[in-house]
Amino acid sequence: MSYANAEELLAAIQPESGGTEVRDPATGEVVGRVAEATVAELDAAIDTARASQPGWDALGHEERKRLLNAAADNIEANAEALAELLSREQGKPLNGPNARFEVGGAAAWLRAATAYEVEPEVVVDDGETHAVKHYRALGVIGAIGPWNWPMMISIWQLAPSLRMGNTVVMKPSEYTPLSVLALGHVLNQVLPAGVLQVIAGGREVGERLAAHPEIDKVMFTGSTRTGKAIIRSSADTVKRLTLELGGNDAGVVLPDADPAAIAEGLFWGAFINTGQTCAALKRLYVPESIYDQVCQALVEVAAKMPMGPGLEEQNVLGPLQNKAQYEIVADLVKDAVDSGATVLLGANPDEQATGNFYPTTLIGDIDPGNRLVTEEQFGPALPIIKVKDVEEAIEHANALEVGLGASVWSADRAKAAEVASRLQAGTVWINSHGTIDPRVPFGGAKQSGYGLEFGLDGLKALAQPQIING
Ligand code: NAD
Repeated sequence: MSYANAEELLAAIQPESGGTEVRDPATGEVVGRVAEATVAELDAAIDTARASQPGWDALGHEERKRLLNAAADNIEANAEALAELLSREQGKPLNGPNARFEVGGAAAWLRAATAYEVEPEVVVDDGETHAVKHYRALGVIGAIGPWNWPMMISIWQLAPSLRMGNTVVMKPSEYTPLSVLALGHVLNQVLPAGVLQVIAGGREVGERLAAHPEIDKVMFTGSTRTGKAIIRSSADTVKRLTLELGGNDAGVVLPDADPAAIAEGLFWGAFINTGQTCAALKRLYVPESIYDQVCQALVEVAAKMPMGPGLEEQNVLGPLQNKAQYEIVADLVKDAVDSGATVLLGANPDEQATGNFYPTTLIGDIDPGNRLVTEEQFGPALPIIKVKDVEEAIEHANALEVGLGASVWSADRAKAAEVASRLQAGTVWINSHGTIDPRVPFGGAKQSGYGLEFGLDGLKALAQPQIING
């Protein structure tokens, strides 16, 4: 069955009465209501997931692949209703690399989880020893997600889990529960009952999921602080963890780069999803020889990108998803301006405006130690730091405790690759930033987390390796 619009989809997932109101960050209007689960309801869902797991596993890879592809078809059949709901709840515009793009990505990543064979691997076979590595299902996976890409990241967690024969209990962010409930509803029109359950709830539900003895692995995407809490609460049961945590990605421009040619790539690297992206470019290091030209080229691109309510088709930038995040961005930019940094574009938000809109902001001549540089802003404000040479840029880039992504911008690919090899980050892009691909493994370095998602590595991360020796 496909839904014609977000209202129809909402009617299928909302409680008949009551529930917690969820508001549109662009307008303040109520989007819908959500029934938040208690810890006892979470426990019951985990029991269901445990009971459903052997049957799901027994279906085998081919049948699970068929069902997951059918579920991806159903996302596509409901794409417009899903995108509209996502736009209203999360704030991101329909167009640009935003809501429609995210729903399309959700279908694509779900299909990608069916694109690999996970065969037993003969490790040693020398006549004396015969050792074979198999990949077994782990059991029940607890998935905990953030509010910035709620549908896409849910798929990143659930698709490889289900493919490998596990069942999933998923807790969305309390800021974007409707998007994930709607996605789960669409998937569950195809999947067998009990295999995937979305349980909306607050932090206490997340804490219980991370500590529950019947959860075998936690897939977590969110802040580094919460990631550390999950490590602690999962310790007693020695759960497997994949942690995709916060980042503060550096971009390093080399002196040979052409400012006009790289400006649009730099802009979208930093401002995708209005800056609310884990692996967005969050601090840009530019050599003094081309500093003014890069700043000017970025201002030209940024100034013409329309920001506004997500359902208005012309917009490509939206509001901050929640007021708390707005306050973080406003505070960091204020700190930078107070320190004497130059406002190249933006800042000065209209405090009377409806919605959590913070203007597209570029800050130049900023001290490398300023908080806007060293803390994760997670919003539409990019600090551009002048450096004397590439050595200084590398030193600054590697100085922080996080290392999700980074990028190098140059006309010389070989030189860029050499600089990339010296950056402490899980992914280093050359002449782009944040361009992810379901075939290419993705994961953080340092305190940006551990474990890989996507591709064959991502599937193996949802399995228990078992060696059969003899
Ligand atoms: P958050 O850590 O505040 O919340 C994430 C989820 O954890 C929510 O569902 C929340 O309810 C739950 N939670 C909170 N406390 C918990 C606890 N003690 N135990 C278990 N669960 C708990 O993160 P957020 O603000 O929603 O997301 C923004 C952050 O996520 C940013 O730092 C961003 O960089 C990061 N992020 C990382 C990636 C990545 O792939 N590395 C992707 C997206 C976002």
